[in-house]
Amino acid sequence: MEEYDYLIVGAGIFGATVAERMANKGKKVLVIDRRDHIAGNIYTYTDEETGIDVHKYGSHIFHTEIEEVWDYVTKFVDFNDYVHTVNTRHDGKLYPMPINLDTINLLYGTDMSAKEAEKFVVEKAKEDVERLGIKEPQNFEEQGISLVGERLYEAFLKNYTEKQWNTSARNLSADILKRIPVRFSHDNRYFITALHQGIPKGGYTKMINNMLNTENIDVKLGIDFRDIQKDVPESMTIVYCGQVDELLDYELGVLPYRSLKFEIEKTENSLGEAVINEADKGVPYTRAHDYKYYQIHQPEVVKQVESIIAKEYPADFQKGGEAYYPVNNEESAKLYEEYVKLVKEKYPNMILGGRLGAYQYWDMDKAIKNALDLVENLVK
Ligand SMILES: Cc1cc2nc3c(=O)[nH]c(=O)nc-3n(C[C@H](O)[C@H](O)[C@H](O)COP(=O)(O)OP(=O)(O)OC[C@H]3O[C@@H](n4cnc5c(N)ncnc54)[C@H](O)[C@@H]3O)c2cc1C
Repeated sequence: MEEYDYLIVGAGIFGATVAERMANKGKKVLVIDRRDHIAGNIYTYTDEETGIDVHKYGSHIFHTEIEEVWDYVTKFVDFNDYVHTVNTRHDGKLYPMPINLDTINLLYGTDMSAKEAEKFVVEKAKEDVERLGIKEPQNFEEQGISLVGERLYEAFLKNYTEKQWNTSARNLSADILKRIPVRFSHDNRYFITALHQGIPKGGYTKMINNMLNTENIDVKLGIDFRDIQKDVPESMTIVYCGQVDELLDYELGVLPYRSLKFEIEKTENSLGEAVINEADKGVPYTRAHDYKYYQIHQPEVVKQVESIIAKEYPADFQKGGEAYYPVNNEESAKLYEEYVKLVKEKYPNMILGGRLGAYQYWDMDKAIKNALDLVENLVK
């Protein structure tokens, strides 16, 4: 351990970026991860028979508005030109998602222009709010109805959201739905503001491997920090990308998270696109992913009969399970801050980072930007 300047716990995109930047500044870095692979939740592996890159922890599409981040990632891997679009199934029909002009016309069987549709949705929402006696929206359901009207809300927002959270939309905060989730145009790009998007040619694991494969970095897998902490010199700076509540043995209780389960199968029943959302209650999963459609730079992979499809089921988080999404609210923010205080007392040289350490949902570009900024401030 003495030979290293920094210990990074977690070989995901955050830990790998921190390690790569530190190594670039001449520091010796040890990266550990308790999984048997690098890349954290963006890990991909190639199925030998089909050549399909499987995103083990769910579809990951790289998209960013931050030039610094795009310049950084493209040093390690080439990206293809994939542009993400999603359809959602409701009552056996597919509709563009997020809701756009085509979604509205398909649902209502109309042929409205953008201007007509906007007026129509606003009026419907107003009528429904009055009819249901909604004053200031008190929960997700009331907020949804007041933004798009009852029919669009019931078709596309209610059941999908209730499946995600495993609770009634009336129990969820109105804040989750801040803006009107509708585009009055035919634009169906999912990441409408992205300046750059794509999928790494060869997968995300290749990208992370290229980041970590440098002289000043050693990587050790299958090691949990909690099992080796007694061997870590007290003076060593640790960047910790795991859960804080778990690190402290849930001393103050469990922070709330949502989890996911993926059912992966090889099949000839292709989805015909990368992702289809399932908006209805009768289908227990929220999304299905057909990974070959991300490999548009390899037409032979996309054209083959076989697909590898993952069905994504929302799940309650259990201690020791996979924490996918932090549930951010006032109460959890307070509990997290208390954990941070305890971490400072017990591990004075520890920096908490990454989506779990920071207890925040971050897209990949945000995780990279935060890692770049951390190293800039830490290693002069
Ligand atoms: C379902 C889903 C889909 C997503 N899709 C997108 C997308 O399309 N585009 C996008 O930009 N972002 C997406 N994201 C966000 C993206 O996954 C995150 O930005 C990214 O994974 C954050 O990386 P990280 O390094 O912070 O965390 P992680 O990838 O979780 O890495 C943390 C690592 O730390 C390790 N670790 C934890 N505790 C310990 C310990 N005690 N000892 C040793 N190792 C430990 C873990 O094993 C893990 O490998 C998605 C997230 C989810 C949940």
